[in-house]
Amino acid sequence: MVSKVWRVRFAPSSKNQPLPADSSAGKTPSIASPHPEIPALRRQAKSKAACQECKLRRVKCDERYPVCGHCERRGAVCKPAPPKSIWKLEMPLLIQQAFTKDDGTSYSMLLQYYFERVCHIMVLDPEHSHNPLSLPLLHLFNQSSALLHVVQSIAAAHKNGFRHSDNLTECLVERKHALVYMQQELFQARKHPVATFLAIFLLGISSPWIEESMGLEHLIGARDVIDLLLNDPAIHPSDPTMQLIIGLYIWWEMASSFSLNHTRQRPLDAGVIYEAVQANQQQYHPLAGYSLGLFHIVANLNHYCRRIVDGEVHDHRVEASLEEQLLSWIPNQENELSFLLSDAYRQHGLIQLHRICGPSEGQSEQENEDLIQQRAAEAMNSLLQIPLTSSYLNFQPIPLLSAASEIPADNPKQRQEVRSRFKALYSLNNLPVMLDAIDLLEEIWELRPLGITTPWLVIVHERGQMFPLA
Ligand SMILES: [Zn+2]
Ligand SMILES: [Zn+2]
Repeated sequence: MVSKVWRVRFAPSSKNQPLPADSSAGKTPSIASPHPEIPALRRQAKSKAACQECKLRRVKCDERYPVCGHCERRGAVCKPAPPKSIWKLEMPLLIQQAFTKDDGTSYSMLLQYYFERVCHIMVLDPEHSHNPLSLPLLHLFNQSSALLHVVQSIAAAHKNGFRHSDNLTECLVERKHALVYMQQELFQARKHPVATFLAIFLLGISSPWIEESMGLEHLIGARDVIDLLLNDPAIHPSDPTMQLIIGLYIWWEMASSFSLNHTRQRPLDAGVIYEAVQANQQQYHPLAGYSLGLFHIVANLNHYCRRIVDGEVHDHRVEASLEEQLLSWIPNQENELSFLLSDAYRQHGLIQLHRICGPSEGQSEQENEDLIQQRAAEAMNSLLQIPLTSSYLNFQPIPLLSAASEIPADNPKQRQEVRSRFKALYSLNNLPVMLDAIDLLEEIWELRPLGITTPWLVIVHERGQMFPLA
């Protein structure tokens, strides 16, 4: 896989980093051990790595991440310890070097938590040096205080279980700081485009995780920043900075713009955006993978479908064109996981189109229904091939919900696999919506035999629910 390495200012060095001073305090190494300094640390890591459920039941945990064997067999929600990583030892030092508040105290606790537990839930490749939402943020904090505070707010919320928690004070204080800084920084977005954009992006996508808001005002604000940059003749659409920003933006539009009333949506085919997508769609992107072009089509489809849901008249030519674009989009064949995931998103788009807009011209209701079933079966096939241990799991929820909605009652095994998958997603990202998705599916599966085929996107929209699956 060819992937871009995002430059890290504070590069890891696993060998020469001194251990935290108190890490082996009070533990005299066993004389029998050939490596006297290792056993104490290893013993400690082992007991910490067992999942909560196994600790509670006092059984041996196989420590598989994100779902251990014990919980998988019991169908329980596994609350795993974070995967073991050298960063645990290095991070406090890195962060202390990087940041100290004016009063001399350091930011390390929340930032450390963010880098260890949170930054990998939003990208395809959790490797820190490939993840622009990981260590590369450290030097951007100097350019945007809003970014620093939004990162800390997300860390505080994740630690406490997001919006189902009654302990979000720390998170909300950080968010307030982030918003205050953001208002000032928006005026100089051109000076630090990446830092400003990332701050808006993280504020927006984390809004529904934390507040009673989809964060769509941030999506609109992000578009203003993009227009500003793309209309700047000094910045070329294929510039790596623009590649990162456009990829995040298109991904975000695809994942959430259905919630935005069609009159407030801004066209994605407009000159510069389209040009930038064309220029970058064959490049690897940490969120969009090689699927930027596909996500652009699905985002456009969202806009159209929302128009229909809002009561606008069907345009069969637009529907035919969207279908044609989805079918003719060519996925990257080199990376198998990326191929499977993009195939599932393509099927998700087609299911959505046919569920919301109905049969295409000349097609019967039954033909439409058969086609949807076929698309859903293909999507399920692709999704279930992605291992539960893969970071590509992060990006499954949207197509998984669309395809799983169509699993017939005579396939209880596959329905069960889907429940396990959403539980594994919850273990990975702590987002309560992953468990809400199981409840929604149970409801949809009960409605189907009654002939009610409303797609999940429309159900949650009509109920005014937030379903931030991305
Ligand atoms: Zn366990
Ligand atoms: Zn477990």
